[in-house]
Amino acid sequence: TEACLTAIEGADALNAFVHKTPDIALERAKAADARLAEGEAPSMCGLPVGIKDLFCTKGVASQAASKILEGFLPEYESTVSQNLADAGAVMLGKLNMDEFAMGSSNETSVYGNAINPWRRGNEDTALTPGGSSGGSASAVAADLCLAATGTDTGGSIRQPAAFTGTVGIKPTYGRCSRWGIVAFASSLDQAGPMTKSVRDAAIMLEAMCGHDPKDSTSADLAVPDFEAMLTGDIKGKTIGIPKEYRLDGMPDEIEQLWSDGTAMLRDAGAKIVDISLPHTKYALPTYYVIAPAEASSNLARYDGVRYGYRAKLEQGDGITEMYEKTRAEGFGHEVQRRVMIGTYVLSAGFYDAYYNKARKVRTLIKRDFEEAFAAGVDAILTPATPSAAFGLGEVTDDDPVQMYLNDVFTVTVNLAGLPGIAVPTGVDRKGLPLGLQLIGRPWEEGDLLNTAYALE
Ligand code: GLN
Repeated sequence: TEACLTAIEGADALNAFVHKTPDIALERAKAADARLAEGEAPSMCGLPVGIKDLFCTKGVASQAASKILEGFLPEYESTVSQNLADAGAVMLGKLNMDEFAMGSSNETSVYGNAINPWRRGNEDTALTPGGSSGGSASAVAADLCLAATGTDTGGSIRQPAAFTGTVGIKPTYGRCSRWGIVAFASSLDQAGPMTKSVRDAAIMLEAMCGHDPKDSTSADLAVPDFEAMLTGDIKGKTIGIPKEYRLDGMPDEIEQLWSDGTAMLRDAGAKIVDISLPHTKYALPTYYVIAPAEASSNLARYDGVRYGYRAKLEQGDGITEMYEKTRAEGFGHEVQRRVMIGTYVLSAGFYDAYYNKARKVRTLIKRDFEEAFAAGVDAILTPATPSAAFGLGEVTDDDPVQMYLNDVFTVTVNLAGLPGIAVPTGVDRKGLPLGLQLIGRPWEEGDLLNTAYALE
């Protein structure tokens, strides 16, 4: 813990930790020592971790990287961060992210960008660690903590993992409790670990998840010993390669990475089959209707009354002006854009044309996966991202669709509620890490982790 606290102090340039909690960390580290001395050895005992700013942590600033939550000190602890603390993990502080987890580059954070510790060849250009869990990815990659929590609504664990050479798993929807995690799109949001290895991911996921009566969508299922399932034996497993993920204009390096990964799994004894997930092309538009719709509803609670920031009012301003000024000043551009899109697609005149249509297409996307699994596929291998990490400002705010295209391989997994993992498997010609994604059957994270283990 002390070594990590020192490393964090020396890494301000990465802007990964946005609230540091050294006192809490040292206190918990001592408590962990005491537990070990008592002969107790919980799975995360004494392991220093970072917590994404989206998780409410009791008495510690939890701002979802937004101005609107300025000064908010939760009176409760999220179930996931509590589970980690119960397992002995030591919280070092809170990690940078895109505002309300909306973004793929950490550029929408009120704290400014988190920076990727990797560099493109000899260039000085600062690169994004991806998003929205960019601070988590940067901190793990730069050895500021041993592991970190992330959340993933459309790829926010897997894309930053791929951009930083770390491992990130989004479990099946319902595996981790969402209680105490600031809501973005409730039917898609899941927490998960971001770590240096698949084994670490298995240990940390087990500590994070489990049934929670405080979240009605949390599954009442036993949590397996994921680490014990890491045998590396994938003989006889069937791996599907979906043809719809082969995009026009995809960089050769990504093609190469994907075929190398396929070859590795084949060499390890897996059977490789070509599959089709025909509704894949509708996934991005479907996600960018459903996620903003749910966000616009979830973000209605930030009204200047209950939480954090309230705009300064002038004589004669009424409650409407208070709402308007607070929300105009408190939310950044991307969040405002999502609230407007969401409100529009949910409005009486457009509900059927957009929101209901998107829900129907979501079902078709889910069915594509169900059919593949019913035909005997155990896991699906795809690239995690369409490129390596890009430079700050290279994909600008003027063109949101360009940024949304980053999520092309990851959003299907959230729409279908499936587990997905990003594993670093190569580098591009400038030496930047690249990752592959494996998608598994619902609730079979153990199997998925084991396949990822064979790929690592
Ligand atoms: N990049 C996607 C978005 O901006 C996904 C974000 C996430 O998974 N939280 O919505």
